[in-house]
Amino acid sequence: MIQPRALVTGGAGFLGSHLCDALLGEGYKVVVVDNLLTGRRANIHHLRNEAAFEFVEKDICEPFDVGKVDYVFHFASPASPVDYTVHGIPTLKVGSLGTFHALDVAHKYGAKYLVSSTSECYGDPLEHPQKETYWGNVNSIGPRSVYDEAKRFTEAVTMAYHRYHKVDTRIVRIFNTYGPRLQLNDGRVVSNFMKQALRGEPLTVYGTGSQTRSFCYVSDEIDGFIRLSKSSEHLPVNIGNPNEFTILECAQHVLKVTGSKSKIAYQPLPQDDPKQRQPDITKARTLLGWEPKIQLEEGLRLSLDYFKKAVAEETTAAK
Ligand code: UDP
Repeated sequence: MIQPRALVTGGAGFLGSHLCDALLGEGYKVVVVDNLLTGRRANIHHLRNEAAFEFVEKDICEPFDVGKVDYVFHFASPASPVDYTVHGIPTLKVGSLGTFHALDVAHKYGAKYLVSSTSECYGDPLEHPQKETYWGNVNSIGPRSVYDEAKRFTEAVTMAYHRYHKVDTRIVRIFNTYGPRLQLNDGRVVSNFMKQALRGEPLTVYGTGSQTRSFCYVSDEIDGFIRLSKSSEHLPVNIGNPNEFTILECAQHVLKVTGSKSKIAYQPLPQDDPKQRQPDITKARTLLGWEPKIQLEEGLRLSLDYFKKAVAEETTAAK
């Protein structure tokens, strides 16, 4: 049997690299295209001697062609609030130009296509929990708009290629995901709290810490992607863990798992920070038979060794 070949844009990122592992396990040859703006070679280092794995360092904001592929997984984009704030214009470009180019590859080769979208499409939601049919409450000119609107545009281009060019597309709306390979300095709440707790520094809680997020462990998230990739659903599907926590509760779980004595330090809430986030996963449950299995405390324990190593490496590098 001929091995199918998958393209993963952004495959050196946190989620992209875990997806590569899963696709190799599914029997794909995998080619990653990533410009390493926020992706890291370290995330794919373990795959460097795999015959079925290939890495191409390239910016997909320029047209590109890596030869025939059977599946395009379009995951390229800065994704943490700190990263997309620093790289605002590249974020808009990869969501727009990059998405056209990824879809052009799928169109040219008749490949299937799955794109990573985000719960940011719901903005600061007025509907709770968020169903895929909710259109969102998004500030189109605020500091988060470079990411939110890029991803909303990504969804629009994807649906247009599906409708006009008959590309076989899928859209996954991802909610806060964490686990090994989360970059230590990406500013996300889990990476910040784990780093701070392990260093014995205060945990920086923004605002009162009463805002909520629903955290999905990476292996559950990837399982959702693989199931969606095998389905023929073209409209967006939420993949996230519906167990919702306040940020203060998240801090307490991190303190418990790390055994840290760190205190809490309250800091100002960033502008447009969503007050609540919880996926309604009825669609993923019924359509894909998908259900997250790992809850927050267990997921933090599974991530602990990774964060300890990352903190130790950073400490050594600083000496
Ligand atoms: N947050 C926090 N302290 C931090 C980092 C983040 O209190 O050191 C809060 C942030 O204000 C937000 C939530 O944690 O309410 C999740 O932030 P994150 O950057 O991880 O992702 P978001 O869901 O906002 O995209």
